[in-house]
Order: sequence, then C-alpha cells, then structure tokens
Amino acid sequence: MSNYKVRFYKGDYRWRQRQANRDRCVAYVEQHFNGAANRRAGYSMVITGYRSSQTSRNWGRWYAQQVGKVFGVPVGGRSGIMVGGYGGRGNGNVKHTKMPAILLEPLFGSNPQHAEIIRSSKGQDKLAKILADSIIEAFPKGGTIGFSVGHKYKTSRPWDRGVPIYGGGTEADYAEIVMEKAKALLEGYDPSKVEEPKEEDDDKPDNDIRVIKDGKEIWLHTETDEDDNILWDEENRVLYINTK
Ligand SMILES: [Zn+2]
Repeated sequence: MSNYKVRFYKGDYRWRQRQANRDRCVAYVEQHFNGAANRRAGYSMVITGYRSSQTSRNWGRWYAQQVGKVFGVPVGGRSGIMVGGYGGRGNGNVKHTKMPAILLEPLFGSNPQHAEIIRSSKGQDKLAKILADSIIEAFPKGGTIGFSVGHKYKTSRPWDRGVPIYGGGTEADYAEIVMEKAKALLEGYDPSKVEEPKEEDDDKPDNDIRVIKDGKEIWLHTETDEDDNILWDEENRVLYINTK
C-alpha cells in the first residue's frame, strides 16, 4: 500500500500554504509552465523561496535536471533552481510553507517543441512520473503531499489560467492534468513492489576453496568450515583439507 496521500489546495496562494501547514504536509509543490515572448526560449527551472531549506533546493535541482535529461532541454538558473524567484516573482507562492516547497517551471508553453510535449498525453505522463519520482526520492518515508495548480482556483482572480500554450490550451489546465497524473502515481506507489538491488555474494561462505586458472574458476570445494585445517604443502605442491 502506498504511504503517500496527495491533497490539492485551492484559493489564494497564501491560503493554500496555510492549509498545507495545518494538514502537516511533508512537501508542497506548485505546478506551472513558463512563457516568453521569444519562442526559442526553453529551459527547465524550479523556484524555491528566498529562505528555502537545503531539502527544497536539492529536490528542486533533482526535478529540473531530470526534466532536462528526459526531454533533452537545458536547465536554467543555478543548476536548475532560482532561489527567491524571478526578481521575487514566485517567492510568495512557496514562502509561507513550513515544509519543503518548490514551484515547477519545467517547460515553456511559448516554445512550439515544448508545447507539443505539454499538450500530448505521453508528455504529460513523463512529466507526472518525474514529479512523482522526485517526491519518492526526496521524501521516501511518505506522508501528505500538498499540490497547488498555478493560477487556477484563486479567489482573487478566478479567471486566471496563466500563459497560453502554443497550439492551444492554457498553462493552468495542463498543469492540473500533470498533477492529477502524479497524484495517481504516488497514491498507487507500492514500495514493497520495488526491487531492492541484491547484495553481492550474500550467502556464500568465506571458507570455500577455489582453484582459478587464467582467471577462470576450474575447481571449487564448498564443504569446508571454519574449523577445518587447510594446509598448502609448498614443497610437494599439495593442498591438504583436514575436516576431522
Ligand atoms: Zn505560471
């Protein structure tokens, strides 16, 4: 069974964060897409608060860099993060939380190639998986995760949907689709089904005797134990194994 529970917060940004504090969320994410007048602008970026913890910064970098890897886009800011937002913009979206919080700007809706990813369900699946993986990586113990869809559901500006996405649709609507998919992944996540890497030579006793010729094992004797007396007679080139 999954140990993650995802809760969406609505209302003005400060209110959302206060509700997440009340619910003792272990992490808080707000999803956006970037936009610029220049259609060629396109990089992966995460904003953290001015006073964000190292956990937030590491988590944000991991996410931004993973987006860069999966989609082959450059990462912006300082190895993927911008502390305090664009000249302060974005800081208020995360600074009121008492838990690690990041604001995602993975791709540019104004960039035609990025927009194609954002609008395709395959691209949305990949973005959702990166988000879910980043949370599992940074918060392996689980807990309640607070989700906030950027722009949408604000009390003060209920019509806001963020930037238009090249080819159709809006930033906030696609952000919501990605977050819903990430929620499904996290709440369906079963840590017991994740294969742990096996320890090497876990159950092999140390007292085996092997003969290796030119790097290849040609003889193996396993029925010895710690009390056996093993003697290599150098002069006669005989190995004695005394088990009695
Ligand atoms: Zn936005």
